[in-house]
Amino acid sequence: MIADNLKRIQQELGDAKLIVVSKYRSLNELQQVYDAGQRDFGENRVQALQERYDSLPKDIRWHMIGHLQRNKVKYIAPYVHLIHSVDSLKLLNQINKEAHKVDRVISVLLQLHLGEEETKFGMTEKDLRELLDWSVNNKEALSNINIKGMMGMASNVDDTAQVSEEFASLKKLFDDLKGKYSPVWPDFSILSMGMSGDYKVAIREGSNMVRIGSAIFSTF
Ligand SMILES: *Cc1c(COP(=O)(O)O)cnc(C)c1O
Repeated sequence: MIADNLKRIQQELGDAKLIVVSKYRSLNELQQVYDAGQRDFGENRVQALQERYDSLPKDIRWHMIGHLQRNKVKYIAPYVHLIHSVDSLKLLNQINKEAHKVDRVISVLLQLHLGEEETKFGMTEKDLRELLDWSVNNKEALSNINIKGMMGMASNVDDTAQVSEEFASLKKLFDDLKGKYSPVWPDFSILSMGMSGDYKVAIREGSNMVRIGSAIFSTF
């Protein structure tokens, strides 16, 4: 069942990259996804990420997709593949520091706060631009960071037109920032948007990475 869902969703995604969100799922369920060939997994809590990293095969690429507290960065710094949820300059600097300690360059996305999204996390467009401007002048200080793009969540509403509009505005900002900052951050190319309820809309609006949990694991 899980393998069928995975296959169907992968076909719907085209070239967009699928991150399977494993929160609240059993190790057995995750192993089934792994056995079906999936290697990118996402978690929204550090402790869960840690436990799963310890228990599952080591060729899994782990994505941190939830709010990250600065004092917890050290736990995931040795292995995390991509942090989607950078929402402050302080957090970015902390990631850089912990990455330096373990001699890694950690890839990150900047999280934009969109619409009526329920979480209070993510930056305003203004904060995001300020962070990027700061990074231009402090690139040497960020030698253990690679800013690779943006992440955003649409409002949790049934109104497809609204969701569509929010994703479109995120894509527009992404294109703008990509154009402006890619001389400094040449890998700025990832737009992480779309979850189980809205990934089709997100893809239509230009997403190239989706984070999907329930649609993979639900057994209709
Ligand atoms: C839980 C979660 C998802 C996946 O949600 P589903 O609706 O189960 O697909 C995606 N992104 C973030 C940040 C999440 O916390």
